[in-house]
Amino acid sequence: MQHFPIFVALAGRRVVLSGGGEAALAKLRLLLKTEAHLTVFAEDAAPEIAAWAEAGRLRLVRRAMAPGDALCAVLFYAADEDAAEDARTSAIARADGALVNVVDNLADSQFITPAIVDRDPVTVAIGTEGAAPVLARAIKADLEARLPARLGLLARVGKAFRRAAEALPMGRRRRDFWADYYFAEGPRAADAAEDADAEAAAQAALERLLARHRAAEDAPGHVAFVGAGPGDPELLTLKARRALDTADVVIHDRLVAPEILELARREAVMIDAGKEGFGPSMTQGEIDALIVKHAQEGAQVVRLKGGDPTVFGRLDEEIEACDAAGVSWHVVPGITAASASVAAIGQSLTRRGRNASVRFLTGHDMKGFAEQDWRALAAPGGVAAIYMGKRAARFIQGRLIMHGADRATPVTVVENASRADQRVLATTLDALPGAIAEAGLAGPALVLYGLAPRAAEAALAAPPSLAPDAASGRATHATQEAL
Ligand code: SAH
Repeated sequence: MQHFPIFVALAGRRVVLSGGGEAALAKLRLLLKTEAHLTVFAEDAAPEIAAWAEAGRLRLVRRAMAPGDALCAVLFYAADEDAAEDARTSAIARADGALVNVVDNLADSQFITPAIVDRDPVTVAIGTEGAAPVLARAIKADLEARLPARLGLLARVGKAFRRAAEALPMGRRRRDFWADYYFAEGPRAADAAEDADAEAAAQAALERLLARHRAAEDAPGHVAFVGAGPGDPELLTLKARRALDTADVVIHDRLVAPEILELARREAVMIDAGKEGFGPSMTQGEIDALIVKHAQEGAQVVRLKGGDPTVFGRLDEEIEACDAAGVSWHVVPGITAASASVAAIGQSLTRRGRNASVRFLTGHDMKGFAEQDWRALAAPGGVAAIYMGKRAARFIQGRLIMHGADRATPVTVVENASRADQRVLATTLDALPGAIAEAGLAGPALVLYGLAPRAAEAALAAPPSLAPDAASGRATHATQEAL
């Protein structure tokens, strides 16, 4: 270990920096988070630095550094981005007795600034001795994703509560209490509160937890209804990842991709609620009962649903079952198939001058093909994201044409949106059922009514000689593999 990591107390102490450009700005943004007295020497200072000086957050001296300027400073940063000037200023600072850092120059630095994950008062410093800044950034990104955003607030409130927590016997019980606070009950309470009330909410969570742990009760179960997104694991929210990380039981749909299930805590019990194995898949009533049963046994249950749980996800039935059983729950939204599908074709769901509203429809419901306000949708510019629309394609086509829709209206079908095997099928209302049958779609597919892939749209707008089929209004469809 060539560099020994320490945390230096900077409150009320002097830190000097020479430089007024980008490198200086980057360091100052960090240093301004401390309570140090900052002095900046720069003949030519960036406007941000001048503004900070104006606001009294640092002292700006508009000249080059001279001997004696770093007297009594604990730290000095040479940030002029000029080798000769950096050598001159760091020699002065060294003579004045400060520890010296030359920005981007490991060899001439007496200390280095690590990559920092800031959840003040919790601070994580990552250093690679200058060997691999890319690695430090990757570790930082990973930690940023893992640690609750309000960890700092939780830690501040938690610190003040340490005394009270001594009411619990040392060891396992006390550890469980703090783990519950930092990774389950605390973040949940703080996230549910408005910013101004978050501290009070964390405090209340601590008191609740303490009462519970003193009574030696086990933590009650809880259900998180979590959106797994359209399939690409990178489209999971940070909250979804964290919920999977801490789950005891994961009850998931058939639609959830295996790569996402792998992110669940290793010890978690995984239950496939969409399994068709030895009989038909579970009924909704059975799923409701299963969720409630595990939560009542004290499990942290993640009910994982494809896309967003609030879109055609039968969420309400499951919430009502929890409420009826007195089981607490919360919802973590996800990216719905409609968002992933339009992203795949480079279009917007709404567009000024084309459609100021967009409909999310289901092709069929429990009673069969679903009736909709077809007349409104058939009007020019109508756009809909049609879920579960594969089998209902002919029905939807018939209804729309009957209500006056133009047969040449573009329709795009996106299969397996956001996954490696994504397919895009660009067609028209007229050719839709045939195109779907011909393509043999096996995966989940979303029908985007009124939208063509951006590239195809450009072709439609081109002169007739360039796009003969479209210009003559004849049915046309093309399959594009994995755009
Ligand atoms: N809650 C989900 C939708 C559940 S309904 C969401 O918000 O996305 C199931 C339907 O969603 C499927 O029949 C299909 O139409 C659509 N769907 C789900 N995932 C999809 C994907 N990756 N690509 C295309 N369509 C998808």
